[in-house]
Amino acid sequence: MNSNTTTSGLTFDVQLSSQRKTPQERAALLDNPGFGSVFTDHMVTIRYTEDKGWYDARLEAYGPLTLDPATAALHYAQEIFEGLKAYRHPNGTPACFRPEANAARFNRSARRMAMPELPEDLFLKAIETLLAHDADWIPEQENSSLYLRPFMFASEVGLGVNSPSHSYLFVLIASPSGPYFSGGITPVTVWLSEDYTRAAPGGTGEAKFAGNYAASFLAQRQAVEKGCDQVVWLDAVEHRWVEEMGGMNLFFVYGSGDDARLLTPALTGTLLPGITRDSLLTLAPELGFPVEEGRISTEQWREAAESGELTEVFACGTAAVVTPVGHVKSSQGEFSIGDGTPGPVTMRLREELVALQYGTRPDGHGWIRTFG
Ligand SMILES: *Cc1c(COP(=O)(O)O)cnc(C)c1O
Repeated sequence: MNSNTTTSGLTFDVQLSSQRKTPQERAALLDNPGFGSVFTDHMVTIRYTEDKGWYDARLEAYGPLTLDPATAALHYAQEIFEGLKAYRHPNGTPACFRPEANAARFNRSARRMAMPELPEDLFLKAIETLLAHDADWIPEQENSSLYLRPFMFASEVGLGVNSPSHSYLFVLIASPSGPYFSGGITPVTVWLSEDYTRAAPGGTGEAKFAGNYAASFLAQRQAVEKGCDQVVWLDAVEHRWVEEMGGMNLFFVYGSGDDARLLTPALTGTLLPGITRDSLLTLAPELGFPVEEGRISTEQWREAAESGELTEVFACGTAAVVTPVGHVKSSQGEFSIGDGTPGPVTMRLREELVALQYGTRPDGHGWIRTFG
């Protein structure tokens, strides 16, 4: 079957896969999809060259890309990505949470990597086109969703390094994902990384850039060797100021009950500006928790936890939404936050965000975009 839709002067050519999973095969895969290992029947690709701009937008069967071994991205890592989810709302409609914010961040990442920007309507049309054919892959179970992974890389063939690539490939793939926490919400233990840094001033920390992850795996492995789940990144200059946790932003809760207030590290240029973080900056005050963007050092973290002034810490991001931090380890020793169990402010914010995303609470912010 072929059908076409037009956006930004571009027509999406739809070539349905001849090997679509049967409803039974799909149901078996959706039963326990895990994260990032099951993919839907289709993908969207859009090509770019300096001469033509964006062209050749298509939906086609999910499958391997054929790349010349001298493709620039394989050598010089010019690759950016996004991560967002499609949720099934109670009336059955697929919906995304603030996809325009992902489109805008994608273009900020593109600018930092000297890559072309993708018009926002094309970014959204890519999602709409994929969901129009693969929405049956959104799992039905509670706290499950279809994880969407848009990415773009330098596709020019050649090893020259004197200029950025002149051609790029944008791809959108989708992966059903189950509940992040299957046995209830469990707080994580974090390792404060003093040996490695994620991002330096003037570097690429603000961009959702593949290389930031490549550079993080050794520190993450060290955290695991220290008996921790995740690495916490400190600033590159003084190795003191807390930045973020793995691929998530951090929030610190001081006080409790009506006096609870939050602090999150300010966006200094080395942190990834999370959309979950940004949403919580709006939601928390509405729920009665004032928020401040500021800074917190590792000593302040330990002292406030030990005095009891700091009552909760959590990380936030699209994949795991809101994750409590229960214990902290570093070369200086270790300490716990509160009694090490998920705190009430953490759980309240998590519940609010999840309800908005899944459409069980009215969207008062214009954050939900439905598809279909
Ligand atoms: C994607 C990401 C986040 C979280 O961003 P969200 O938009 O909330 O998903 C935080 N830190 C890093 C390093 C990331 O890559």
